[in-house]
Amino acid sequence: MAPSEYRPATLLVHQGKDRDPATGAATVPVYLASTYHHEGGVAGEYDYARSGNPSREQVEDAIALLEGGVRGFAYASGMTAIGSALSLLKSGDHLIASSDLYGGSWRFITGVLPQQGITFSLVDTTDTAAVKAAITPQTRALFLETPSNPLFKITNLRAMVEIAKENELITMLDNTFMTPLMQRPLELGIDVTIHSATKFLGGHSDILAGLATTADADLAKRLKYFQNAFGAVLSPFDSFLLSRGIKTLKVRLEASQTTAQELAERLQAHPAIARIWFPGLADFPGREVHFSQATGAGAVLSFELKEKTQVKKLLESIKLPIIAPSLGGVETILTHCWSMSHAAIPAEDKLKQGITRKLLRISVGLEDVEDLWEDLEAGLV
Ligand SMILES: *Cc1c(COP(=O)(O)O)cnc(C)c1O
Repeated sequence: MAPSEYRPATLLVHQGKDRDPATGAATVPVYLASTYHHEGGVAGEYDYARSGNPSREQVEDAIALLEGGVRGFAYASGMTAIGSALSLLKSGDHLIASSDLYGGSWRFITGVLPQQGITFSLVDTTDTAAVKAAITPQTRALFLETPSNPLFKITNLRAMVEIAKENELITMLDNTFMTPLMQRPLELGIDVTIHSATKFLGGHSDILAGLATTADADLAKRLKYFQNAFGAVLSPFDSFLLSRGIKTLKVRLEASQTTAQELAERLQAHPAIARIWFPGLADFPGREVHFSQATGAGAVLSFELKEKTQVKKLLESIKLPIIAPSLGGVETILTHCWSMSHAAIPAEDKLKQGITRKLLRISVGLEDVEDLWEDLEAGLV
């Protein structure tokens, strides 16, 4: 059986190579060499570590296998993966991006792309007609995130692919929240899938990493060229940690998702909560579209408290979750999006999108659900 025919749980554990080809060791070692001997002056499989490294190749092959891509790319951070994918655009091009984006992506698109002569429109991509209306003769790509972050807006990926095909646009999707285990965008026709592997794929809050993959051989060639040209590649040691994290993704994500579902239901019934966003709730607005393109609700939820003073009280009371901008770790992470993950976005833009000072996001970890609930409940006044 070719590795690509294995089911996801098997692929996560065995990845592209499940032992070191040179020694048979149970894990692919951390190859620290920066350069490789050219026997008789001729380059072998590897020539210089920026261009290729066996430890990095392990996670590059893993993401390609998991998403159904022809080739994977590993970068020093999720933002490098995003910046590298957006390098497929050139001066004079126009980009349409989801208006509810990760703060760093918002910063890159609104701050860096214009300096390169690339214009953009931020559009509510849950509204297919609005996306069509934003297309200009210069539009070359769609940059999407679903579920969006932190307001869980659900973009219909099949509808976006259809619009993109009609208008010859490249589609890029930040798949960080779902991971390839719950959402496989390339199978729906998305061109480039991107991950902040810092989050669920790494899973232990101990590395920064980015991954990208595509099923299109020409896009893969261009991404490979940019990766080598920029040089912001994932280090061998971080590649090893990422490969190790990927092996346990299924058990981690499924356990966290079960706890997230339970917490979401309890929070929804709690009088301190004004509003809650979690795709697993029966009355979640994007539920039907989400479950037509993803197999799970994930392990992140957002909620809004009734008063600003309640936020301060909760943040002062809470003990188990780390209070920080991030998600996808084994430990529960509580984020005040206004001041942390979305700090890069100016106040008026955040308010326009519905991100208020009363909004909190929880990435549910692997702690006991009752301990988490008791800790949360004590802070909800
Ligand atoms: C964290 C995150 C990023 C950025 O990734 P880094 O690894 O921090 O550079 C991009 N998109 C989403 C959805 C994220 O959560």
